[in-house]
Amino acid sequence: MIRSIKSFDLKGQTILMRLDLNVPIEDDKIKDDFRLRACLPTINYCLDEGASIVIMSHLGRPEGKYNKNYSLISVGESLASMLEIPIKFSDDCISQDAIDTSLSLKAGEVHLLENLRFYKEEQDNNPDFSNRLSRHGKLFINDAFGTAHRKHASNFGVVDNFKYYGIGLLVERELKYLKAMMNKPKRPLVVLLGGAKVSTKIDLIKRYLHVADSIIIGGAMAFTFFKAMGYNTGKSLVESSMVKNARSIIDLARASGKELIFPADVICSKNLDSSPIENSVDVREISNDIMGLDIGPKSIRLFNEILDSSSTVIWNGPMGVFEYNAYSNGTKLIAENLSKISEDGVIVVAGGGDTSSALKYFDIIDKLTHVSTGGGSSLELMSGNNLMALERLEV
Ligand code: AMP
Repeated sequence: MIRSIKSFDLKGQTILMRLDLNVPIEDDKIKDDFRLRACLPTINYCLDEGASIVIMSHLGRPEGKYNKNYSLISVGESLASMLEIPIKFSDDCISQDAIDTSLSLKAGEVHLLENLRFYKEEQDNNPDFSNRLSRHGKLFINDAFGTAHRKHASNFGVVDNFKYYGIGLLVERELKYLKAMMNKPKRPLVVLLGGAKVSTKIDLIKRYLHVADSIIIGGAMAFTFFKAMGYNTGKSLVESSMVKNARSIIDLARASGKELIFPADVICSKNLDSSPIENSVDVREISNDIMGLDIGPKSIRLFNEILDSSSTVIWNGPMGVFEYNAYSNGTKLIAENLSKISEDGVIVVAGGGDTSSALKYFDIIDKLTHVSTGGGSSLELMSGNNLMALERLEV
C-alpha cells in the first residue's frame, strides 16, 4: 500500500514535496505549462489544510553543475502567479540558508528550491545529498510522476530519512487512469503508437499484443516496421537497431492472429525543410530520394475508423513531424477525432512528452479522459514494469 496525502493530518506540517516542474523554457519563457498546472491541485490541497510546502524539482539536464539556463526561477514566478501567492526561492537546494528558510516557514507559505540537478549527487542517489534534502521538511510527498521510473536522491534515497511519506493527488490520478488501462480496459481496446523510437515502446507493444483488440503504428516508427517487411523506406527515419525486433513483433502478431495496422499512405518530401510532395505516397512506393514525414489521408481515414469503433484508446506518440505545420495534419486530425470520441464516452488516455506537446499545440489537452504528465514513466508502467520511486513508498 502507498499512503495518499489525504491520509495525513497536514495542519502545521512542513511538507517536503518532490514535483516534476521540468517544463520546456525558451528565452526565460515557459513554452508549455501543462506540467505546472497538473501540480496545482496537490499544492492547493496542502495549503488549504494549513501546511507549508518546500518544493523540489529538476529542470533539464544541467549535468551536475550550475547553469542559469536551467534555473527554476522563471518556473517559480509562473507558479506564484498561478497560485496567486508569493513564493520564497533558494538558489541552492541544500545550503544551510535554504534549510533555515524551510524551517521558518509559516502555514500557507511555499518555498521553492533551485534545480536539484545542479548537483550530480541527485542522479547518483547520493545518501548524504538525500540526507541534506530531507532536513527541509517533516513529511515527504512524491507527486513527480514524470520521474517516478528513476532512482534519484530526491525521490528514492530521501525516503530513508522520513518516518512519514506518501504520494500526492497527481500521482494518485495517474495511477488510477493508467492502471485502469492495464487491469480491466473496456473493449474494444485500441493502442495507437507513433513518434520516432521503437525502442522506447517495444515493451508496450509486446504486452498489448495479447491484450489489445487493435494496435495501430504510425509516425516514424512505422518505417522501422516497413524496413523489416522489406519495403523501400527511402530517406525516412528508421531505427536500424530495432529492425530485427520489429520483424519478431510482426511474426508474433501473425502467430497469435493479431493484425498490426500501419499507414497505407504517407506525406513525403525530399527533406524536412522542403515543401511536401503534392500527393500522398503509397507506403510500398517510397523512392530512394524522399522521406515520409506524416501519415496521408487514406491512413487518417483508416485509423479514425478503427478509433471510432473503440471503447478505450491508449495513445503514445505523434503521427508525423507535428512540429512543422506541413507535417502536422495527421496528428491534428487524429487528435481531434480522439477528443470527439472522448466527449462521446470513449476512455482516451494519452501519454508521452511529445503527445502532450502535440495536444497542447492543437489546444485539445483538456479534452481527453486523461493526459499523463510522464513520458518514460507512463510507458514503463503500462509495459508492466515497476516505477522504482513509487515502489519505495510502499508501506
Ligand atoms: P518519440 O519520442 O519516439 O515519441 O518521438 C517523437 C518525435 O517523433 C516527434 O518529435 C516527431 O517529430 C517525430 N516524428 C514523428 N513522425 C516522424 C516521421 N515520420 N519522421 C521523423 N520524425 C517523426
